[in-house]
Amino acid sequence: MTFATLGLIEPLLRALETLGYQTPTPVQAQAIPAVLAGRDLMAAAQTGTGKTAGFALPLLQLLTMEGPKVAANSARALILCPTRELAEQVHASVAEYAQHLPLTTYAVYGGVSINPQMMKLRKGVDILVATPGRLIDLFRQNALKLNQLQTLVLDEADRMLDLGFSEELANIYRMLPKKRQTLLFSATFSDDIRLLAGQMLNDPLSIEVSPRNVAANTVKQWVVPVDKKRKAELFVHLMRKGRWKQVLVFAKTRNGVDALVDKLQGLGINADGIHGDKPQATRQRALDRFKSSEVQILVATDVAARGLDIEDLPLVVNFDLPIVAEDYIHRIGRTGRAGNTGEAISLVCADEVNMLSAIEMLTRQTLTRKMEPDFEPEHRVPDTDASGQVVKKPKKPKKPKMSGGGGKRNLGKWVDSGDVAPAEPSIKPVRKVPVFNTGPRKKK
Ligand code: AMP
Repeated sequence: MTFATLGLIEPLLRALETLGYQTPTPVQAQAIPAVLAGRDLMAAAQTGTGKTAGFALPLLQLLTMEGPKVAANSARALILCPTRELAEQVHASVAEYAQHLPLTTYAVYGGVSINPQMMKLRKGVDILVATPGRLIDLFRQNALKLNQLQTLVLDEADRMLDLGFSEELANIYRMLPKKRQTLLFSATFSDDIRLLAGQMLNDPLSIEVSPRNVAANTVKQWVVPVDKKRKAELFVHLMRKGRWKQVLVFAKTRNGVDALVDKLQGLGINADGIHGDKPQATRQRALDRFKSSEVQILVATDVAARGLDIEDLPLVVNFDLPIVAEDYIHRIGRTGRAGNTGEAISLVCADEVNMLSAIEMLTRQTLTRKMEPDFEPEHRVPDTDASGQVVKKPKKPKKPKMSGGGGKRNLGKWVDSGDVAPAEPSIKPVRKVPVFNTGPRKKK
C-alpha cells in the first residue's frame, strides 16, 4: 500500500516524499480513507504510531478541496492537545505536511503572552492547534470564533482528562457548531473517554492499533533495584559506565527534577530540566537544546514530556516509576521510535514495588532485574511478576526460635511496600499475595 493508493493529493505526496515516508503506518492506512470519506473517528492509538499524519493528511486535503476561505478571527479546523509541547510538535508536523498547500496553520497555548496570538488570529487560520485553557481564553476575549469550524481533533484525549481538562472540554463542546467532523485519539479507552466520545462523536468508526510498546520488541527494558537515597549516585555511575550520550530521564515531581538537575550540573554534567512550573520559553529551549544534542541529559516530569518526538533517542531512564502505570508505556515510547531500537532503564526502590507490579501487569511482562554491584539495596525490592503479584517476605523474627514455630507465626506479617525489611538473602520467598493499596495486612 502507498499513500497514493489511499487517495492523497499530489502536494501532500510531495511533502511525504521529502519527509521520507514511504509506506503508511497501520493507523494511517485505516484513518486516512475514513477521514477523507467524512467519517467521525474514535482511534485507539498513541504517539509513535504515526497518528498525527493519520489525522493531519486527510484533514489538510479536505480543507484544500472543500469549504469557504477562512474568515477573520476564525479557524476551519481545531486540534486540541493536552500540553504545550505536544501542541508545538503537532503544529510542526502539520506545517510540514502542508508545505505545498495554500493553507495557514498556527499553535496557541498558555504560559506565553496572549497578545501576539490574538494578533495572529485576526486574519483567521485554516488549522489551529491549541491547548484547552488558552483556546477558551481566546474565545472569551472574542479573538476566536468557531462557527466556521469544519473539523475538531481531540489528540491524546485520555491525557486531557487526566490533566483535569474535562470542564474545559465541556465548555469547548458548547462553543462548537453542531455540524462538524470529529476525530478522537486516545491511548486508552476508559469509561470517561467513552462518555466523551458518546457526546462529541457522531456514528464514529473505531480504529484500534495495538500499542506498539507493550510487546516492546524495539525497546529493551530492565530494572535496577536500588535504595531510594542512592538513586542519584547510581544514575551518575551508570551514566559514566555506559558512556550515555543522550538520555531522557523521568522523575516523579517537579522538585525531584530540580534536585537531580542541580546534582548533575554540580558534577559538571550537561543537564537541564523541564516541568510544569517552568515558563514555556524555558521549557521549549531546554527541549530544543536536548534535541540538537547541546544538552546531554534532560530530566522531565510526565506532564512536560508527554508525546514528545525526539529523533533517534537511544535511552530513557525512569529515575522514579510513574504513579499511573500507563505512563510507563508513554515514557519508554520516547525511545525505539520509527523502527529504531532503544533502551529503557528503571531505577526502582522498595517503596515503588506496587508501581512496578502494576506496570508488569499492564505490559504483561516481568521486567528483568539487573543488580548493579556496590548498589545492592539494603531495603530489598520484593519480587514481582506479570500477574500483578508481589512476593512478600516475612519480617525477620525478633527472637528466632531454635526450631519450628517462629517462622510459621510470622507468615501472616507481610511487609508493606512502605516498610520493607532489609535484604535477607537466605530466606526464600514463601508465598504470593495479591497487591493491595490499603495499609498493612491485619493480624489474624
Ligand atoms: P506520531 O505517532 O504521529 O507522533 O509519529 C511518530 C513518528 O513517526 C514521527 O517522527 C513521524 O514523523 C514518523 N512517521 C509517521 N508516519 C510515518 C510513515 N508513514 N513513515 C515513516 N515515518 C513516519
